[in-house]
Amino acid sequence: MNKGNDGMASCMPTVFELIVRGDIPSHKVAEGKLWYAFLDIAPRREGHTLVVPKRATSRLCELTTDEHAALMKGVCEVQARLGQVFDTNDFTVCLHDGPLAGQEVPHVHFHVLPRTHGDGGKSLMAMWPAQPAADPPHDRLAALAKQLTDVGA
Ligand code: AMP
Repeated sequence: MNKGNDGMASCMPTVFELIVRGDIPSHKVAEGKLWYAFLDIAPRREGHTLVVPKRATSRLCELTTDEHAALMKGVCEVQARLGQVFDTNDFTVCLHDGPLAGQEVPHVHFHVLPRTHGDGGKSLMAMWPAQPAADPPHDRLAALAKQLTDVGA
């Protein structure tokens, strides 16, 4: 059972669960015991690959330690493969963790995109392109860092 993007428990399998099970087709790139990687059906650039845990859960922090480790290994294996095919060592690796972050499929997935000269892709900073003030706001940064360390996890 997974949680949909409305936070409600759902018995409906996610589209990625169906892909992992082989119930709907995918363009497989690689897989491990706990993860599966396949090409995005609407690639933002050639080689755009998704790496998912085989167990469906919508949030990164709901995965077990073993699943976390396996998923990162999967990302690295996919990078190694993409690197050889696209002749690059550079990648954008991104994860939308929840609908407000842009997650459309409520099943954890890393996007892995090879980066090459002139590919037109941007960086994280392009999400908030306004230039920050010249002086770092150390007072606010210090207060927030304190709040974050004090709050626990
Ligand atoms: P996100 O917005 O992070 O949830 O990304 C979902 C991604 O899944 C999008 O890039 C879609 O193009 C991709 N996607 C959705 N359905 C499929 C599918 N059946 N096979 C491959 N990729 C898919």
